[in-house]
Parts: sequence; structure tokens; C-alpha cells
Amino acid sequence: MKAVVVGGGLGGVAAAVALRAVGWEVAVLERAPEFGEVGAGVGVMPNALRALGALGLADAVRGIGTPRVAGLIRDPRGRALVRVDEAGSDRVVAVHRADLHRVLRSALPAECLVTGVEVRSVDEVDADLVVAADGIRSGLRRELFPDHPGPVYAGTTAWRSVTEARFPPDLEIGQTLGAGAEFGVLPLGDGRVCWYAATTAPAGGRADDELGEVRRLVAGWHDPITALLDATPPATVLRHDIHELATPLPAYARGRVALLGDAAHAMTPYLGQGACTAIEDGVVLAAMCARHDVPTALAEYDRLRRPRTRAIARASRLVGRFGHRVRHPLVVKARDAAMRAVPTGVGLRGMNRFTGWTPPELSPNRG
Ligand SMILES: Cc1cc2nc3c(=O)[nH]c(=O)nc-3n(C[C@H](O)[C@H](O)[C@H](O)COP(=O)(O)OP(=O)(O)OC[C@H]3O[C@@H](n4cnc5c(N)ncnc54)[C@H](O)[C@@H]3O)c2cc1C
Repeated sequence: MKAVVVGGGLGGVAAAVALRAVGWEVAVLERAPEFGEVGAGVGVMPNALRALGALGLADAVRGIGTPRVAGLIRDPRGRALVRVDEAGSDRVVAVHRADLHRVLRSALPAECLVTGVEVRSVDEVDADLVVAADGIRSGLRRELFPDHPGPVYAGTTAWRSVTEARFPPDLEIGQTLGAGAEFGVLPLGDGRVCWYAATTAPAGGRADDELGEVRRLVAGWHDPITALLDATPPATVLRHDIHELATPLPAYARGRVALLGDAAHAMTPYLGQGACTAIEDGVVLAAMCARHDVPTALAEYDRLRRPRTRAIARASRLVGRFGHRVRHPLVVKARDAAMRAVPTGVGLRGMNRFTGWTPPELSPNRG
């Protein structure tokens, strides 16, 4: 059986690894001239780490990042609003996206990976299964679901980068919520720190000095935020307007095509689950392909993936309302008081709903 994966992002490459693990012949077609990931860091949540474990890659991923407890939320003066204690909480592995992509690619023979090929239509692809992993602006999704409205602007603009300098290993994964702005920190395994900042803004805004924009947004906020910005080369700061598929797709499969990752369910990043669920998708798709014929596998894939990813996307949108969207001082005060009052266990249970996921077994026995 042969699968062609259209798009070589984290989701597409993970799917290719998973399909090969169940005995399929796989080619990944990527339109960019070379494979890689632009961007900064990504938090590999416990659910994604388990999916990577099913691919035999969990240890390799732990080797490129440091597993840490995530859950410290602070106000701009550095006072804790929410703290998840060490006990009872799973670890998140913060990694550089390029490193994670390299680990996934290393599990594939080089001849599976083809760059510089843009697929314009499913009809061009000769395969038993086509995996549409072509991202949020998926052309294959447009072809298969021409009436779907596509991605919409979520109202937020976000900046991301990674420091050049290294920081002490005791830095925590954390987030700081202010009035109309937020700032987050993901310490990578080698001491560099990935950070992001977000605020609401009209779409399409750009500045000559994006790092300066971030400095203004979080001026006077607690340590080490200024030090992180000082340690960041201005040219490395990326700015993205956040888009999402606000209207869910009616199905994640059509004919012999499975949609996966952002092509299927691009979501806001507030729960850090976009790439994580893209990786899950590939593992579930392959597990279903190992058990069933293609039509049944795709029906099962859709049945298993759509409710979960829709729930995460909805929850992410909801969580987003309590961060940088809150501007009025009285509402900020009420939010902060409410967050301080939430018992840690309640917050954890909410997160575990999503991060407690375990992958189906990948079995090479078809039939
Ligand atoms: C600011 C921000 C922060 C984020 N933070 C996190 C986080 O902390 N944790 C997390 O899990 N997720 C996060 N995400 C989400 C995450 O980045 C995405 O969900 C994830 O990268 C999607 O992967 P993908 O493989 O589905 O798509 P993509 O990474 O977009 O890959 C699609 C690939 O398809 C290729 N392609 C497109 N069209 C064609 C074509 N016609 N033919 C061939 N190739 C094609 C593209 O070149 C691209 O390489 C964040 C997103 C943003 C914007």
C-alpha cells in the first residue's frame, strides 16, 4: 500500500513515520525547496510525547529538550496567579521546532522526502491514500470542501523568538498575563529560551522594529523578561497574525484523502496543542490503516479525531479569552483574583482532559 503525504511540516512528517511503521510505502511531497521548520519553540505536551513514543521517538525528543512542569502563570509584577505543583503533573518537553522536525525526519529514509513539489490537486497524486498535511491554507482542503469558509483571523497578533544567549536551567515554563498583553517562556534543553508575546490588533500590522514592539508591550514586567528580549537578535523575531478554522470541517476524510494537522483543524495556540494534535493525527491514521481497508480506516480516523480536536480547539478559544484579550483594569483584577482562587487540582483536571490522551497501538498486522 502506498501513501503520499502532501506537506512536510511536523504533522506530515509524523504521519509518514507512522505509516511506514505499519508497513506502508510513503512519500512526503513538500513544496518548499528544503525541509525544515521556521519558527521558534514548541512545547511537546504529554499526549504528543506518547504519540512520539508510539513511533519510537520519545527518548530522542527528550534528548533535545528538558522535561519540565508547566503551569506557572504570573502577573506582570511576577506574583503567581496559578502554580501547578511538581507532584501530580506531567512534564512538557520544550524543544526547538527545527530540532523536533529533524528528529522526525531522521526516522525516514531520505528517498521518502521530496522537496520542491507543489501538489495542486488530489488528481495529480497516484496513491492508495493521500494525506493532506498542507497546513492552515490547505489547497487540498479547498478542493475537497469548496464550500468551507477556510481560516479566519482570531484577532491576535503574536511575536516569537529564541534567545541567542543561554539562561540558567532553573528557569520555569511560564506565562505572564497583563492588561491586553501576555508573554510566555519555554526554556529549551540547551539553555536558550523560546519566548512569545501576544496582543489583540487589527490583522496585517507590521513594524520596522518588531522587537521594539514587544518591548513596549511588556515594559516594566518582571524578570527575566527584559533580559530575554535583550538576548534576542532583533532580526530573528517572527510576527504572526493568529488564524484558525473557526468553522469546523464536516469531515477529516473524503474519498482516499485524510486531512491532518492544521489542514483539518487549525486552532488558536493558547493550549499549545496545534502541532501536538497534528502528531497525534498521524499516529491514529496509521493505526487505523494497519487494522482496516482504506475506506474503513478513514471513517475510523474521522470518528476518532474530529470530536477530540474540535473540543481542544473550542477550549483553546475559551482559554484565549482570559489572556491578552482582557484589557479593562477592573476585569483584569477580577480575572487575576479568580485565577488565584482556583485550586491547582481543578486546573490540572481541566488540562488532563486533553494531555491524558494515549495513542492506539501501532500494529503492523493488517486485516
Ligand atoms: C504563534 C504560534 C504559536 C504556536 N505554538 C504552538 C505550540 O506551542 N504548540 C503546538 O503544539 N502548536 C503550536 N502552534 C501551532 C502549530 O504551529 C501548528 O499547529 C503546526 O505547526 C501545524 O503543523 P502542520 O504539519 O499541520 O502544518 P504546517 O506546519 O503548516 O506544514 C504544512 C506544510 O505543507 C507545505 N505545503 C503547503 N501546501 C503545499 C502543497 N500544495 N504541496 C506541497 N506542500 C505544501 C508547506 O510548505 C508546509 O511545509 C503555534 C502556532 C502559531 C501560529
